[in-house]
Amino acid sequence: TLSDRLTSVLQNLRGKGRLSDADIDATCREIRVALLEADVALPVVRTFIAKIKERAKGAEVSGALNPAQQVIKIVNEELVGILGGETRRLNLAKNPPTVIMLAGLQGAGKTTLAGKLAKWLRGQGHTPMLVACDLQRPNAVNQLQVVGERAGVPVFAPEPGNGVGNPVDVARRGIEEARRAQHDVVVVDTAGRLGVDAELMKQAKDIRDAVEPEEVLFVVDAMIGQDAVNTAQAFADGVGFTGVVLTKLDGDARGGAALSVREVTGQPILFASNGEKLEDFDVFHPDRMASRILGMGDVLTLIEQAEQAFDQEKAEVAAQKMGSGQLTLEDFLEQMLAIRKMGPIANLLGMLPGAGQMKDQLAMLDEKHLDRVQAIIRGMTPAERDDPKIINASRRLRIANGSGVKVSDVNDLVNRFFDARKMMSQMAGRFGMPGGGGGKT
Ligand code: GDP
Ligand code: MG
Repeated sequence: TLSDRLTSVLQNLRGKGRLSDADIDATCREIRVALLEADVALPVVRTFIAKIKERAKGAEVSGALNPAQQVIKIVNEELVGILGGETRRLNLAKNPPTVIMLAGLQGAGKTTLAGKLAKWLRGQGHTPMLVACDLQRPNAVNQLQVVGERAGVPVFAPEPGNGVGNPVDVARRGIEEARRAQHDVVVVDTAGRLGVDAELMKQAKDIRDAVEPEEVLFVVDAMIGQDAVNTAQAFADGVGFTGVVLTKLDGDARGGAALSVREVTGQPILFASNGEKLEDFDVFHPDRMASRILGMGDVLTLIEQAEQAFDQEKAEVAAQKMGSGQLTLEDFLEQMLAIRKMGPIANLLGMLPGAGQMKDQLAMLDEKHLDRVQAIIRGMTPAERDDPKIINASRRLRIANGSGVKVSDVNDLVNRFFDARKMMSQMAGRFGMPGGGGGKT
């Protein structure tokens, strides 16, 4: 799948200290193949690759991320962009009812979607109604009625026995009924064909003109790949739509259609369907879809955390202070919080060079103990944090009471802090850290 391929492409970058232009070119070539194999439309692939290349080559060296992470971050951001960036919310009419018309080929999942939308809208506090305008297929009206019942919403349908009926007329009367019964949203289900044809387009267009929908949602089966683009284009020209709904994302299609349709038609994807049941439905979130396509949810989270936790300037100042023995408890707290943001301390320990020789100090870093340390430092005044030397016996008692610990805990922390500060400045001397005076002479 697309996800598997992208994952392995980007995995190959890991462990590289620096990326050459050749590395980036090779990576982009592979991403290109992966996208094409996933049925992403060629023009979309071209634009995408060009952007990635340009950004990757021009990327500033980041303090927080290694080069591979940086490329992953860029690919992810561009994926999110191509998928529409922000989550697009449903437009509601100023004067209810809001009319939402569904359009798309037969079998795309419109009728199923009508039920899903109805249920979801109810959950959002709306009072939706469905209108059955697919009078083409013998069982279509009944199918919508079943779906409506499951969702617990009323369905407006032409009276049986009145001949085939006119879908435009049904649509118009449906809206009138919704207004009368004070439904604030109306979902209009329409007929599809197996392929794009002129009659289908005309009917859909006539319904649209009759009900003036707030949203026309083009419903498309994500599994049809390249064809999604052509179909979308035909509907965009023939009927016009304001948003896209991708269905059958539970199939093995992993984003080809999503990437193409949005980019080619310029219309946002609003919802995603991923199963036959009414609950298999969600608002479409470009960022979540991107990480699903990338198949790197964990890596992306890690990148985000690393970036958040990393504040170049603060770290430099702290390193400076560490080296010169001026570290305060405030700095200490800040660093501790930054590190804790990245996850359980135990996972990070392995990364520390020479961790073995600092056993005693590292014993402090057990999670429960860290909570206590945090509480103690928070219980200190700024002056105390700044200059722990002033923390005399009566202050220790006050801090202990204030943060719910024993005086011996406060003593312990203060003593260990002094030890650690001394040790850091010695280490800085040995390793030539800034401020340690070990480097320059
Ligand atoms: P319509 O012709 O556009 O109204 O399409 P339907 O709503 O009748 O759906 C056609 C078929 O696709 C039905 O068998 C649905 O159960 C199925 N279907 C619809 N949406 C999904 C989906 O998200 N996932 C899966 N697996 N099947 C779906
Ligand atoms: Mg249908």
